[in-house]
Parts: sequence; C-alpha cells; structure tokens
Amino acid sequence: MKCDDALDTVYESEETIPFGKRLGLAFHILFCGSCASNLETYEKIRSLLRRDFFPPSPDFCDTIMDSIYHSTFDEVNDEPVFETYGFSVRSWIIVGIIMLLSLTSIFFGQDFVNIAQDQGSSFLLPLGIIIGIVITGYGALFIGSHLKEFSERFKL
Ligand SMILES: [Zn+2]
Repeated sequence: MKCDDALDTVYESEETIPFGKRLGLAFHILFCGSCASNLETYEKIRSLLRRDFFPPSPDFCDTIMDSIYHSTFDEVNDEPVFETYGFSVRSWIIVGIIMLLSLTSIFFGQDFVNIAQDQGSSFLLPLGIIIGIVITGYGALFIGSHLKEFSERFKL
C-alpha cells in the first residue's frame, strides 16, 4: 500500500473499510511515520469535530428537577407536600359553620315567626328543602375539592 492509498483509506468512513484494506493500512502505518502522524492528526480533528466543535447547550435539567423537588418536598418533616390551591380546610370548615348557624338562626328570627303564623306548617317544607340543598351542595363542593387530602388522611 502506498501513502496516497493509505490516506484515501483513512478518509473513508470506518464502517465501509473492508477488513483487508484495514489490515493493509495498519501494516503500512506500522512502518510509515508520516502516515502514522497524519492518521493521528486526522483522528484528533475528527474527535474534536464530533464532540467540541459545537458548544453544548446549557443543561437546565438538574436546576429544574431540583426546584421541583424543593417545591413538592418538605425537608423538615421529610414528606411530600400536597399544595391545595384556594381556601384551606380550616377556612372551609369555619365558613361551613357560619353558614349552618345563619341558616338555623332563621327559625329564631321575628320575621320567621310572623310568616310561619300566616302560612302555617307548610312553609317549613320548602325552607327545609332549601337548607338541605345548600348544606348538601356545600358539603359536596368541600369534599370534592379536597378528595386527595381526605383519601390521604382516611387511607381510602
Ligand atoms: Zn505512508
């Protein structure tokens, strides 16, 4: 193998070089210093082009995963944090109690006594239905919006 042939072989893609040619090249390089140094330079440039020619884009993976971890994990108690958006459970219960008290206090008002005397006991039925609908709706909304917390707390 001559030097020109050897360099031509080197510039071919590695996969397409037949085994015989590769063996000839290796044999030639063993005895030819200039081809060996050419090959070494070529390999260096090729690896440089492969890895370092284009600067790698900045990797935000660790930063993003770290911030997700810190936002969803309570390090003090060593447990995951389930954020609830909107009102807290305490304010839901306080509002529910206020609503229940205001609904039941209707029966003690002066207006109620007057209307009840005029309309008789048939007035109580629609009032009871309205109170029942409001309380049921509020309870359903409360439980529905806190399903995850309740299933965690009561192990459902
Ligand atoms: Zn040579």
